[in-house]
Amino acid sequence: MAKILGYIAYEGPSEIDGAPIVVIVNKITGASKNGKTGAIVQSFIIRSDVNPVQALQTGADSSICGQCEHRPIIAKQTNKVPCYVQVAKSVLSVYNAYLRGRYVRADAATIARALAGKVVRIGTYGDGAAAPVRMWTQITRYAAGVRGYTHQWENDNFDHAAWSPLAMASADTLEQAALANLYGMRVFRVSVGVDKQPGETVCPASAEGGKKSTCAKCTLCSGTRITARDVVIADHAIGHDRRRVIMLAAA
Ligand code: SF4
Repeated sequence: MAKILGYIAYEGPSEIDGAPIVVIVNKITGASKNGKTGAIVQSFIIRSDVNPVQALQTGADSSICGQCEHRPIIAKQTNKVPCYVQVAKSVLSVYNAYLRGRYVRADAATIARALAGKVVRIGTYGDGAAAPVRMWTQITRYAAGVRGYTHQWENDNFDHAAWSPLAMASADTLEQAALANLYGMRVFRVSVGVDKQPGETVCPASAEGGKKSTCAKCTLCSGTRITARDVVIADHAIGHDRRRVIMLAAA
């Protein structure tokens, strides 16, 4: 029997804007080449009807990332930290494999069994909250752990109670972090410069954290499944030196 490359966990309307999206779960077996994450099951949330590179350029990626300030089309205008995902490489290759029919459509119970005992990244690309939270809860029910981040927690229709055990609230400011905590979510904050606050811990896979761990081993980004401090990581994306200078000048 041919090895299954991955599963289609969801095809349907985006929870953000109703446009067609697909959720693909892959890298279920085997080691990862990513030094930060280690071996971890990956998931891609993509527009099912638009090439992901084109979606970035036209803004159609809002269906899978909402109004996240790291979307390239926004970051370019606002001088914010651009998303680090190399869409023209990994995401495009996943999309092309999807078009070629390389992923298997399966029900949630089958995917849940395939993910049993694994650590699952919710949203390797795209925001998990673009797809129904019930699907994620079902497919990760036997997983050893989850690592997830969402920028959608400020949306009116966001279900904080359902999402808090699945994802960290992504925050770009101290104010956002405090608000997310009020909603009952743990926080993953990207700082401009290293400015760890009381109540936060530095991501151990980061340069400032000494690259001591990987996401597969470290459990810190497990949402409220664990009781632990919030996490902070310094912006290391392209242009971070320039953003730091601008921020210091404005302070
Ligand atoms: S804190 Fe841990 S789980 Fe979160 S990004 Fe860093 S290494 Fe990964």
